[in-house]
Amino acid sequence: MVDEDIQSEFDHAKKIVFLTGAGVSTASGIPDYRSKGGLYTNDRSNRPAEYYLSSDCLRDEPKVFYQYEKKNMYYPDAKPNVIHEKQAEFTKKKGATVVTQNIDNLYREAGTKNLVEFHGNLYNVYCQKCRKKVNYKDYLTSMYHRNCGGILRPDIVLYGEGLNPSAISQSVDAVSKADLIVIVGTSMRVYPFAGLIDYRSANAKVLAINEEALSFSFPFTMIKENAVKFFKDLKVTA
Ligand SMILES: [Zn+2]
Repeated sequence: MVDEDIQSEFDHAKKIVFLTGAGVSTASGIPDYRSKGGLYTNDRSNRPAEYYLSSDCLRDEPKVFYQYEKKNMYYPDAKPNVIHEKQAEFTKKKGATVVTQNIDNLYREAGTKNLVEFHGNLYNVYCQKCRKKVNYKDYLTSMYHRNCGGILRPDIVLYGEGLNPSAISQSVDAVSKADLIVIVGTSMRVYPFAGLIDYRSANAKVLAINEEALSFSFPFTMIKENAVKFFKDLKVTA
């Protein structure tokens, strides 16, 4: 059930920004590698998942990097769920923006407009040697570029790498212009993503949708509900 007052916040908002994370995609069967039961705890070696997602690993042990990504990160059969779909509808009908930490391509599949992929997209793959784009299906077959023999990589922000400056400026711009900021599927603890909230305007309302209560250092409205249920009930009015 979406409370009338909450529905009305969405109805009357002029610029909505959704700040989202892994919790949005767990309903599509993609595990959150930061949470319990995610890759950290399933990994039996001593090295944390961060290492396998780092520029050091890609540079020093490209085969290990490749095997890890292929085995743990790619879910090409995953489909967007109602959270992606409703937010996509808000982008189309109300000019909302989605800024996501997710790299799984599901927002694109859902047809989201005004999408900022803060950490890149696993399904955009390129060759490190000749810089050409390569279909991810080819990458899942071989780590080497068929044309030039270069080592392929996904266009995601690895640990040890800087963010894409245009992703930062687009996110800051969207957050600073928003009158309604909706946090879904993220506890906003990982920087620099978490710092985006500091760019909100003084009159922006902040909502967080999560089954367990979250605590933030800024004023916000906590909606303690399963996000799938919440977005199923939420109406998108133009
Ligand atoms: Zn190449």
